Amino acid sequence: MARTWMKIPAGTAAKECAGPNCSVSMYFIPHPKTGRPHPVSCELEAEGAKAPTATEEGLGVSHFTTCVDRAMFFGKKANG
Ligand SMILES: [Zn+2]
Repeated sequence: MARTWMKIPAGTAAKECAGPNCSVSMYFIPHPKTGRPHPVSCELEAEGAKAPTATEEGLGVSHFTTCVDRAMFFGKKANG
């Protein structure tokens, strides 16, 4: 499956996922298509993901696709 990689600007603040079984750091960035804030996470380091630092941008994928509690996102609101 192809993944959609998204760049995370340097200095983007991390937020912990609210999923009860998930506690990864997410970074909210504007979705390239909708412009709405979208959570991106960087746990797929083996595939090239990297968390942003204060001075370097990061790279991640939509947390909707990797979250172990992703049903939570789709249960609450219909904006997938
Ligand atoms: Zn999560």
